[in-house]
Amino acid sequence: MPGSGGHFIVAIDGPAGSGKSTVSKLIAEKLGLVYIDTGSMYRALTLKAMRLKIDLEDGEALTELARSTKIDLLKVSSSLKVLLDGEDVSGLIRTPELTNNVKFIARVSGVRQEMVNLQRVIGGRSSAVLEGRDIGTVVFPEAMFKFYLDADVEERSRRRYKELSAVDQRASLNDIKHDVVNRDESDIKRDVGALKRASDAVFVDTTDLSIEEVVERLLSYIK
Ligand code: C5P
Repeated sequence: MPGSGGHFIVAIDGPAGSGKSTVSKLIAEKLGLVYIDTGSMYRALTLKAMRLKIDLEDGEALTELARSTKIDLLKVSSSLKVLLDGEDVSGLIRTPELTNNVKFIARVSGVRQEMVNLQRVIGGRSSAVLEGRDIGTVVFPEAMFKFYLDADVEERSRRRYKELSAVDQRASLNDIKHDVVNRDESDIKRDVGALKRASDAVFVDTTDLSIEEVVERLLSYIK
């Protein structure tokens, strides 16, 4: 692992279902680093916009909302709590409706600027693993370690299906694949902070790998 006491960032990007959340969490645990799930920040802001019935096409109103909102990530034993203006919203930000609305928030450049600033502040405090879409390209382009995880869309859809069935949301595999493809498209095509592999990121295709294998592969670069 890099120099004793040295501060470093591990950036892990990739599309939905690529395995990055599970892997990022495990890497952070194994290395004793702070884990930052940047998707949960966009999700929390989406929840607030929906609650306040803000027009999701109104970029200025969404930017204003981002500026006046406090989002924190709090580690409680082994899980990460997402605090929206002090309220624990961890259980509320993963519904299918909200997931489909995040794209309206995530494409607004003023919103992204606020989120990126916040991510840099949290990541600047101590060594951390950040996972998202634009970590290696925008948030921490100088990160010491950069990874881009991807997997076949069928496999990513199956993973999402399994995750959602575990919490009893009865969407069919086909519906889920449709959502995954749509989400990929809006993540890849937006004008700011688009999902993109940084040219210096290590690419890992996780389609045929177990979580443990992906973790081992990433650790072999970090150690
Ligand atoms: O990672 P997760 O799937 O929870 O992210 C939800 C959504 O938040 C993504 O589909 C993407 O649109 C947005 N996001 C983003 N930039 C990030 C992380 C997530 O735009 N760094």
